[in-house]
This record gives sequence, C-alpha cells and structure tokens, in this order.
Amino acid sequence: MSLETKEDVLNRILNAPVPICPHCGEPMKLWEEPPVNFSDGLGWGEPYLYMCFNNQCPPFVSGWAHFEENHGHCASTRCFCYPSSGKFEFMPVFSKDGGTGQIIDEEMLEKQEQEKIAIKEGFVALAQAYADRDNKKPLELLLDAASPPRVRLKAADMLEELGDETSLEPMLNKKFGNRILDEAMVKAIKAIQERTFTRECPYCAEIIKVRAKVCKHCGKNPHE
Ligand SMILES: [Zn+2]
Ligand SMILES: [Zn+2]
Repeated sequence: MSLETKEDVLNRILNAPVPICPHCGEPMKLWEEPPVNFSDGLGWGEPYLYMCFNNQCPPFVSGWAHFEENHGHCASTRCFCYPSSGKFEFMPVFSKDGGTGQIIDEEMLEKQEQEKIAIKEGFVALAQAYADRDNKKPLELLLDAASPPRVRLKAADMLEELGDETSLEPMLNKKFGNRILDEAMVKAIKAIQERTFTRECPYCAEIIKVRAKVCKHCGKNPHE
C-alpha cells in the first residue's frame, strides 16, 4: 500500500475511463465503500469501487430468484469493478436501493468541493483570530451549525486558550448532539472557567467568580 491519500485515489480514478458493466453494457457508477467497512478491513480493500446500478442488469435481475432458492432470503448481486485492477466481481445487495447512498456523482463531488473550501476559509479565519487574540470569531464558528465539524472542533480548541467569561454564557446554553463536539465544548468550558476563576452558580446557573460569597445574579450563597 502506498502513501496515497483517499483524495489522491479519488482523483486518479476520476481521471481514468469509467468501466462498462460486462453484463449489461451500461457505464458503471463510482461508489464509496462505507467507511466502517473500509477502516475495519471488512470491505474490499479499496475506498472506491465502480458498481453497476442498472436494475435491468441480468445478474441483478436473476439474482433475486437465485438467492431465494439457495439461501432462502431476499437478496441479489450487483456487478462491481475494482478501479485498481479493472477486475469485475459480484457483491450481495439486499434491496434495489441498497448502497445507492454511496454513489459518487457530480452533485456529491460538488458538495465535497464546497466543504473543502468552507474548511479552508474556516481555518484561515481561525488563524487570523488567533493572531489577533480575538475570541469572538472562534465562538461564532463553534456555534455556527453550518460551519464544517473540523472547523468547529478547532474553534473549541482555540477557545480553551482565548475564551473569557463572555464566551461562557453562549457555550453553556448549547448542545450539539454530536459527541465529539459536545466533549470539545465541555473541555473548553472547563479550561475557561479554570483560567478565569469562574463557575456556574448552583442556584441560577449564571457565571460567577469561584470565590464569590454571594451570587451577584440571584443573591444566594453559592457555597451553601
Ligand atoms: Zn450491469
Ligand atoms: Zn446565582
């Protein structure tokens, strides 16, 4: 295995001709192997395969009856091609739509391209904010659901160092529903609280000084 990245592999494949299904003569579709299969070594050893998604393809049409007779369950096979070697093989599928979510087409490539640009822009903005010791920009990016997860993670990381008391309020009121982001946020909140000697008032949840004897928001003694 060379040190080619997944992106290199994709570019190489996109620059080579699209294979034709030997069973039906239709051009095959580029298909991304589900990441869990690929990284666990459960898959086909290549991140991308070409697959015939023609529902009229003869082995796919006859496969249903074959599987029913021989294995007693509902499945068929689709022809696929290894981009690296050009070899054709079959893969079981369990419905007509099985695997179609991983088809890579123009629309999907366009989306990936936009995501790449958004990541780049996000990182540039964060680098500038870091140089300016500005914690507003990382906070904005962290809380922006439209910014790419990688940018948001980096923003959370940066807030550990740049965040202050004013950053805490919007962070405390937020839940992302993404475990990695939520953990990064909790870590950032902790770091900011430690650095600014603040905590949440146990009564009103406002940010107060660790040493405050009376909460300036609700008037209660936070140490009681
Ligand atoms: Zn075919
Ligand atoms: Zn309070």
